[in-house]
Amino acid sequence: MNDERRMNNDERIPVGVLGATGMVGQNFVKFLEGHPWFDLTWAGASDRSAGKKYSEATSWRLDGTMPSKVAGLTVSDCVPGNGAPRLMFSAMDASVATEIEQAFAQAGHVVVSNSRNHRMEPDVPLLVPEVNPDHLRIIPHQQRQRGWKGQIATNPNCSTVVLAMALGPLRKFGITSVLTTTMQAISGAGYPGVASMDINANVIPFIGGEEEKMQRETQKILGDVTPDGFRPLEAKVSAHCNRVPVVDGHMVTESVGFVKKPSEAEMIEAFSTFRSVPQERRLPSAPADPIIYMREQDRPQPRRDAARENGMTVFVGRLRECPVFDYKFIALGHNTIRGAAGAAVLNAELMYTEGLLD
Ligand code: NAP
Repeated sequence: MNDERRMNNDERIPVGVLGATGMVGQNFVKFLEGHPWFDLTWAGASDRSAGKKYSEATSWRLDGTMPSKVAGLTVSDCVPGNGAPRLMFSAMDASVATEIEQAFAQAGHVVVSNSRNHRMEPDVPLLVPEVNPDHLRIIPHQQRQRGWKGQIATNPNCSTVVLAMALGPLRKFGITSVLTTTMQAISGAGYPGVASMDINANVIPFIGGEEEKMQRETQKILGDVTPDGFRPLEAKVSAHCNRVPVVDGHMVTESVGFVKKPSEAEMIEAFSTFRSVPQERRLPSAPADPIIYMREQDRPQPRRDAARENGMTVFVGRLRECPVFDYKFIALGHNTIRGAAGAAVLNAELMYTEGLLD
């Protein structure tokens, strides 16, 4: 933790979750339990749930039991007011996230969203704190442009974050082209998700909208920020997305071409020594090693590796030369932690140390 901003339990910052009763919302509730800076005091959901106790409104679908403090919260409507704290995480259903998140930002809330709705907007940061922390520089422009006292920041799609994290340390070699194929876990489809008759002992080679999201989001994340917009990475990115019968952990193969081909040793050193602002500032949810390079020839594997390091590290392995591009390798990340709730909480920790929550 950043020493200057160390706080004790009763000084923690109150936070709320929009869409707290859903699958991603439950992941926020679980990830925030015992957080040293943030105290979950407010839960919002639809009018089907508002007015009920969180424990009555929610079918808990995660491992372990519902945190008792949150179980007793009364669920609120997702409208500003109602005692909603300034910092709001959003796990809103995409059909309503645009209006609700904007209403909160307009009313002065800091909205840290996991929903896809605002990710590609030209004044909204799409953050991976290790890769593009500087993209937060767009926030004053967003506030001026929209007349907001509050703000919206987003995290990427759960497979994009794995791709972008592994590409982050390779940017210095000049990335020219990326071809990626995903093997995405069932939990990424929410609950009840994909029918068991479809996914058991099978692969589904289609996830609606996912390939386009991976391609465009990756270019935005790896691109540059200017005072009034973003300049996407010029490299071509092509994605094939597949759903596989794995519970947690998205695995992606990556074939990458460079302006100047590095040596294998330089590639491995880039992965293994990668550290960034979250590590320098010792943010509570930042993994000590954002990327772990595994030298075993059959690793990483979702069941064995995805949840290691609190689910926040991306594991890379099987680096080898590619006869079409320069190199190919495999990367793995936990889709509901590094790809959803953990990603948004790390974003908020970065924003706090930038003074954006003051
Ligand atoms: P979900 O389980 O269906 O939950 C949706 C939540 O939104 C529930 O809390 C629901 O409340 C609430 N809600 C629905 N309609 C509402 C309304 N009109 N007003 C207020 N609240 C409303 O969905 P999910 O799987 O958690 O997904 C949530 C969001 O995360 C989606 O935008 C999804 O695309 C995104 N997501 C992102 C990733 C990722 O890549 N990082 C992964 C999965 C999902 P009730 O319980 O009262 O209905």
